[in-house]
Amino acid sequence: MKTPLVEMDGDEMTRVLWKIIKDELIIPYVDLKTEYYDLGLKHRDETDDQVTIDSAEATKKYGVAVKCATITPNAARVEEYDLKEMWKSPNGTIRAILDGTVFRAPIQVKGIEPCVKNWKKPITLARHAYGDVYKNVEIRVPGAGKAELVFKNADGTEIRQTIQEFDGPGVIQGIHNKDNSIISFAKSCFNYALDTKQDLWFATKDTISKTYDHRFKDIFSEVYEEYKTRFEEAGLEYFYTLIDDAVARVMKTEGGFIWACKNYDGDVMSDMVSSACGSLAMMTSVLVSPAGVYEYEAAHGTVQRHYYKYLKGEETSTNSVATIFAWTGALRKRGELDGIDELCSFADKLEKATLSTIESGKMTKDLALITSLENVTVLNSEEFIRAIREKLDEM
Ligand code: NAP
Ligand code: MG
Repeated sequence: MKTPLVEMDGDEMTRVLWKIIKDELIIPYVDLKTEYYDLGLKHRDETDDQVTIDSAEATKKYGVAVKCATITPNAARVEEYDLKEMWKSPNGTIRAILDGTVFRAPIQVKGIEPCVKNWKKPITLARHAYGDVYKNVEIRVPGAGKAELVFKNADGTEIRQTIQEFDGPGVIQGIHNKDNSIISFAKSCFNYALDTKQDLWFATKDTISKTYDHRFKDIFSEVYEEYKTRFEEAGLEYFYTLIDDAVARVMKTEGGFIWACKNYDGDVMSDMVSSACGSLAMMTSVLVSPAGVYEYEAAHGTVQRHYYKYLKGEETSTNSVATIFAWTGALRKRGELDGIDELCSFADKLEKATLSTIESGKMTKDLALITSLENVTVLNSEEFIRAIREKLDEM
């Protein structure tokens, strides 16, 4: 390796898996260079969360990071870890610094078939992560009265519209988005489509929301003009439709494309796609910034329940596939950027070894419960990683 990966360590069961994955599947095979940041909750607290900011800045500098799942503290965690403060979500902090879009795709393997039987290839979901209902203001209207939408220009002029003349109680909501954020989102999607050689779909409800959603549609189509030639050269398509039409069509396709969604649609649809594909533990996640910076992670959390069993010395069977694929994604991207073919082919090989371990009937408990394979062997967390290493050595 030439350039180091930014390595962001994390919490609980995924931190346990992180070390085993590195020791068994990465370090023996790769001349690994990383710049290590410990985002474990204790260390975030010790550094007043500066380590999270530093790790994001390092990602900007080097271009590729691999991240372990981390605890987003709530009141219970403040007590459990005796925290100075209820620190913010590390993913939120990193996303705000890198200004990225998160792409999530199921890892498909023989024996774990999607419920939607015609989905042959993974559907990658791209969720806009800024604004709309996630940054709203709401009022519970107590009774009769007039609700207005008012914008005060910097020059003092106003734009004013009546929302509703209420004759009784009700509710109102104010939401917003910014052109810059939508442009970044669009660019990240077009870049990722070119990168992964997949068509891009985007959908809104512009027929009903003729200004708000229509702005998203227009920005995507303006940004597409910059990408059109490259899309045509790569034989790729940018497809825009209405959200309800997109949902209907997605069910009938065989997959293999990127589905860009507004914030709320992405929240809802990513859970639909991941659950239809079997398990959160089989879902990859990558944050791609419009500047071309990549942060790979698993889509799931720190698997707290398993960690407490582990602490009590009980056996766990935690699925490490998404975390392994975070490493392979990051190593492959580093290989591509630095022109190191061996690194890319190692990443491919480790992914193949992981999938063929499952296909040979050796898997963790979460998959054993849903597989269509017969005579499966349920392995514990560590045995599963060792079984992958055996496969890797056979290949
Ligand atoms: P979680 O870690 O995703 O786990 C929820 C449940 O899903 C687990 O209890 C387990 O079900 C199953 N599961 C998830 N990953 C699995 C795996 N790799 N192998 C087997 N089963 C798996 O969510 P959580 O327990 O709600 O959250 C724990 C912590 O993670 C929280 O502190 C949260 O803040 C954090 N979190 C971090 C991220 C991130 O860093 N990206 C994302 C989400 C949550 P069973 O218990 O039924 O086996
Ligand atoms: Mg959600």
